[in-house]
Amino acid sequence: MKAVGVVRKVDQLGRIVLPKSLRKRYALNEGEPVEILVLGDQIILEKFKPRCVFCTSIDAVSEFNEKHVCSSCISELNELVNHLPA
Ligand SMILES: [Zn+2]
Repeated sequence: MKAVGVVRKVDQLGRIVLPKSLRKRYALNEGEPVEILVLGDQIILEKFKPRCVFCTSIDAVSEFNEKHVCSSCISELNELVNHLPA
């Protein structure tokens, strides 16, 4: 990972202002959910992508009853339902 080299101070509430250039580059608009990931001694910010509750995939995820499910798991669930005993 290439270091960007921007230094910011953490405020009393633990907040850090992301430089406008980064917000613009990554389309981080006000209200955009951001996921905070920890990798060893690094803290990584990533635009939040909903994950499938079953397989954690981020591909083709739909929301159902406030849960996220991918198209692959929806297909498997359809197979399961179609093979239930009558
Ligand atoms: Zn899935």
